[in-house]
Amino acid sequence: MTEDAISNLANETRHFDPPADFVAKANVTATAYDDAKADRLGYWAKEAERISWATPFTEVLDWTNAPFAKWFVGGTLNASYNCVDRHVEAGNGDKVASHWVGEPADDTRTITYSDLKDEVCRAANAIEELGIEKGDRVAIYLPMIPEAVVAMLACARLGAPHTVVFGGFSADALASRVIDCGAKLIITADGGYRRGAPSALKPTVDEAVAKVEAQQSGLVENVLVVKRTGQDVAFNDDIDIWWHDLVDESSPDHTPEAFDAEHPLYVMYTSGTTGQPKGILHTTGGYLVGVASTHSAVFDVKAETDVYWCTADIGWVTGHSYSVYGPLTNGVTQVMYEGTPDSPHKGRWWEIIQDLKVTKFYTAPTAIRTFMKWGDEIPAKFDLSSLLLLGSVGESINPEAYMWYREHIGGDNCPIVDTWWQTETGQIMISPLPGVTSGKPGSAMKALPGISADVLDDAGESVPNGSGGYLVLTEPWPAMLRTIWGDDERFKKTYWSRFPGMYFAGDGAKKDNDGDIWLMGRVDDVMNVSGHRLSTTEIESALVSHPKVAEAAVVGANDEMTGQAPVAFVILRDSATGDGQGDGGAAVIKELRDHVAKEIGAIAKPKLIMIVPELPKTRSGKIMRRLLRDVAENRAVGDATTLADSSVMDLISAGMNTTKDEE
Ligand code: ATP
Ligand code: MG
Repeated sequence: MTEDAISNLANETRHFDPPADFVAKANVTATAYDDAKADRLGYWAKEAERISWATPFTEVLDWTNAPFAKWFVGGTLNASYNCVDRHVEAGNGDKVASHWVGEPADDTRTITYSDLKDEVCRAANAIEELGIEKGDRVAIYLPMIPEAVVAMLACARLGAPHTVVFGGFSADALASRVIDCGAKLIITADGGYRRGAPSALKPTVDEAVAKVEAQQSGLVENVLVVKRTGQDVAFNDDIDIWWHDLVDESSPDHTPEAFDAEHPLYVMYTSGTTGQPKGILHTTGGYLVGVASTHSAVFDVKAETDVYWCTADIGWVTGHSYSVYGPLTNGVTQVMYEGTPDSPHKGRWWEIIQDLKVTKFYTAPTAIRTFMKWGDEIPAKFDLSSLLLLGSVGESINPEAYMWYREHIGGDNCPIVDTWWQTETGQIMISPLPGVTSGKPGSAMKALPGISADVLDDAGESVPNGSGGYLVLTEPWPAMLRTIWGDDERFKKTYWSRFPGMYFAGDGAKKDNDGDIWLMGRVDDVMNVSGHRLSTTEIESALVSHPKVAEAAVVGANDEMTGQAPVAFVILRDSATGDGQGDGGAAVIKELRDHVAKEIGAIAKPKLIMIVPELPKTRSGKIMRRLLRDVAENRAVGDATTLADSSVMDLISAGMNTTKDEE
């Protein structure tokens, strides 16, 4: 990506300074950037004081065997102790750790830090009784229920790395992850509640266990099953055990062992937006420091008064870093919600914010665009005045979605933190600091203190302000991945070989005239149209800025004339859906094409626009453009196993043959 990718988006002139009361009370002040730059390792050594070490570390970073990092060398700690015991020991046992909200009405649980500690200890004793020892892997396949957090912390307490697999994934996806990391135990539930009805989980696990058994007999020794819905499930007495039979009967006392800072904490498979999932390994000390530090800085956490809610499913990394390890290490009160935002009505999230007086709220652009599509009047019915700060993660937030979020959820006075990071980075890397950095709609702004990011051209030179290229991280950071599970070579090749000595993120980015960073989509998604390099993010944002559009996905499809040409898949807002019918949508499609030409230039005008009811997304809500490219190029659709809803692709492929409107 070069100069051509720079167009209207980064000319965005709207910007929002932090509200004065935020600045006055902010956890991090403006000097943090310079202080950290002057002594990066000193900065992280200081941040490491946030957590409790059993043995202090002797060296902050050992990078002699790069890219294999060792952080906080010689230090020992227990992650679960940091998340629960120490808060109880500090006298905060009665403080609420989790306001858990089930999907069915009135199905709530209030869990204090003492309750959480007891439950984690019981689960640790139970899992130990099943023969799990330090270093053994445990797969967790649970809905968004408190036991999911308890299971993660119990594994961490024993030094048994967990791998959490989305409750929505198929038996194949679960089996391949269990095999890849060699999990001996699977923790699951009979089912969970989603979209107003119980859905089953256990049958998928049974199917997965059979698949694993066929390939690696005896690998899975036990399946621990939480009773959530009470639905009938098959039970194999040789390996299945009810959670309530074992955990509830175990002792609430368990002495945590201190592990080396580099002891594996978990393996998380990436969401699979671009290809075969990779088992990303995170270790204990650096990870905990990285997430506790950034959670405090980016969300300006005030542990005494905040009610914090991150809507991410624990099955993806945001749930790990910013629903479990970061917030619990920081001792905050959180909200956890089991179900979907439209159950039993489309205002469910706003109702939860109103009822529990949520102060800090963190969600994904895909959700925000869905709410835009549903209409402004829905959040307007609720009192959202408790909110102080809003966060966004997972994709670039289109400027239009940012403005909507700011106005309709944030009442025009909450700073918005657009946080760029990855499963691999473990912690937020690029984001405004809410009491320091101004926000610009569509920009993630700056690398956080202690983090160094840059944008490079093809030759590996740092691009000047006003130009685009490849996003890299030029220095190691505490929560960085340590390797790809079982595949050091792939780790080196994927992340450390494109630009020697630097971490290659795989995302395109540009620096605006102030040097602030704009994410432009995956490097693979950048397209070349008649020699001009165009960003998918940019064309999508142009489409979303049209009042009739709720969501858009753009891909570059092969084109005889121009090399590649943009093809757009568009979801209309509910208020505009009539426009997509009748004439097959021809009028609205023309309007949208002209709109893109006006916003970016004729070169970016999509050659084909399809009005679709849904877009293919991963369970974490990211658009899988690779599948859309298959459709746009008339190929059989590739591996779709990580899709949240596989029927979406059938709908889109079918639509392709009926509502084609090509220019
Ligand atoms: P895979 O690596 O398996 O293809 P994935 O990259 O979607 O899956 P994640 O680690 O969950 O898996 O996502 C990280 C990616 O999400 C980033 O590389 C970036 O493309 C995108 N992303 C996350 N946050 C932001 C943000 N604030 N702005 C722009 N892009 C973002
Ligand atoms: Mg990725």
